[in-house]
Amino acid sequence: MSKDFPIVDLVSAPNDVLRTIYTACRTCYSAEYPINIWDAAADEEKMLKLIKKVLASGHHSTIEHCTFVFAISGVSRACTHQLVRHRHMSFSQKSQRYVTEKEQFEYITPPTIKKAGLEEEYNEFMQKTSELYSKMIQAGIPAEDARFILPNAASSSLVTSLNLRELIHLANLRLCVNAQLEIRILVKKMCEAVIEKEPWLSEYLKPKCVSLGYCNEIRGCGRYPQKEAKKEQIKG
Ligand SMILES: Cc1cc2nc3c(=O)[nH]c(=O)nc-3n(C[C@H](O)[C@H](O)[C@H](O)COP(=O)(O)OP(=O)(O)OC[C@H]3O[C@@H](n4cnc5c(N)ncnc54)[C@H](O)[C@@H]3O)c2cc1C
Repeated sequence: MSKDFPIVDLVSAPNDVLRTIYTACRTCYSAEYPINIWDAAADEEKMLKLIKKVLASGHHSTIEHCTFVFAISGVSRACTHQLVRHRHMSFSQKSQRYVTEKEQFEYITPPTIKKAGLEEEYNEFMQKTSELYSKMIQAGIPAEDARFILPNAASSSLVTSLNLRELIHLANLRLCVNAQLEIRILVKKMCEAVIEKEPWLSEYLKPKCVSLGYCNEIRGCGRYPQKEAKKEQIKG
């Protein structure tokens, strides 16, 4: 994995994230028309105070109105397979049926393979796979069948969109050190791009242990006490 990969660009984001969420929050508790709340909204500190209070109360539908769109490339199929498990995200991914690989297909190399000194063998395997793939295409086998031999390492591209609630959930799960390195880097870059636009979100775009105050994974990294240890701490 090159240090620049995956390539992540935030290509679309709402201009009025705070105001949108504030209007959604206030609408729930106000006799005012939402458009009047929207028009009157101005004080950033006041908006943030209410939003934080509403989020702390678990009223998370209020942040579903803001959607972010990312253009992603240089990411392995192993990683995108994990990403597509998130059911509130939308995806448009480069097809291995409609796009026939030319010459050597692009692939991702995890740093552990280099570290183990196995990069040369890894590259040879990819080259052999590519040669067989080309042979299959030349023999008239359609790309949708030739792709059966392409590995998890094959590089992919996609456009994905998700709302803020799902982005926070994604960050909570995938920034955890138990998540695979590549998806962790990908989600970190997605979060950084959003935080650059909306710095107040840095508090929420964190691994889940930060908001829980403990680790609920089977194996923790030590940043926070394990759930059971935390219970003992509270009891004691
Ligand atoms: C460290 C790690 C290891 C993993 N290992 C494995 C593994 O070994 N095998 C494997 O198969 N998967 C594995 N996964 C994937 C994991 O099981 C989830 O499929 C994935 O993380 C998506 O999470 P989610 O379902 O919470 O989120 P999303 O699909 O993003 O949904 C967000 C939330 O919406 C709600 N929701 C969505 N759909 C439904 C529904 N149908 N019914 C009710 N509520 C719903 C839930 O509250 C859910 O948390 C792993 C994930 C992580 C982070």
